[in-house]
Amino acid sequence: MSQSSRPVVQVVTPEPVVEGAGVHLRRSIGTRGLDHLDPFLLLDHFESVNPADYEAGFPYHPHRGIETVTIVRQGEVRHGDSLGHRGTIGAGDIQWMTSGSGILHEEMPQVRAEGIAGLQLWLNLPAREKMSRPKYRDLGGAQLTETGTDGGATIRVIAGEAGDGRLVGPVEGLAVAPKFVDVRLPPGTTFRETVPRGHTTFAYVDQGVVRFGPEQTPAHAPALVVFGDGDVVEASAGPGGGRFLLAAARPLHEPIARYGPFVMNTRAEIEQTLADLRTGNFIRREPRDE
Ligand code: FE
Repeated sequence: MSQSSRPVVQVVTPEPVVEGAGVHLRRSIGTRGLDHLDPFLLLDHFESVNPADYEAGFPYHPHRGIETVTIVRQGEVRHGDSLGHRGTIGAGDIQWMTSGSGILHEEMPQVRAEGIAGLQLWLNLPAREKMSRPKYRDLGGAQLTETGTDGGATIRVIAGEAGDGRLVGPVEGLAVAPKFVDVRLPPGTTFRETVPRGHTTFAYVDQGVVRFGPEQTPAHAPALVVFGDGDVVEASAGPGGGRFLLAAARPLHEPIARYGPFVMNTRAEIEQTLADLRTGNFIRREPRDE
């Protein structure tokens, strides 16, 4: 049976936003135009060599009901959280966190000559896991292997399976079973990857120009490319090459009630979250993993 190539249904130009204590970002999911792409709730792209754009960072703030994945491309981000983790993630590194019932953390880009660049994605948690135990993990870029493909692309599989199951990403334990593949396309190369039918799928182009789908729809960085259903994602490099993150995950089809860093299913659960913060019950006293 022939596999169908997923068509491009939307190309979204990210919107400039200022977040945290004054960090300038480009946001493509989690905007007025695109509230979410079930189960993806937010996609922020940070990239600047001007310290004024990023040095204020994201001082201590809470999260509930989500998971986050942060990919650092350039520079360094210092991190600390209410579970007691402290560290710095740098170029090529990945951090992923399950906020579950509640976590407090800070994410502080460090001023470096090369500036800062990277992506942060928020994934929704299914209703039954929203109040689960918080978890934090990170992974040095050295543990992520780069693989050349038949089409000439260089890929790093971050999560899920790729290359017909020959490659498995090290990021695991996320509720919506995402697939994340970092793809670099030198000029003249192509890329083809299977994604499960029915899974929400997008590509975020952060460098160059990449053409996607059966119509060879061009996407100029920065751009979010949303795919319709099908079996495979096909891409080819524009004249100067390009880079993108391919992401796919199982949609939850559950109601979403969001308020800043909290994403629950109902308004009452958001009210409860705010009450928990006021009364000092946000961080649960319980045995923790790690
Ligand atoms: Fe955060």
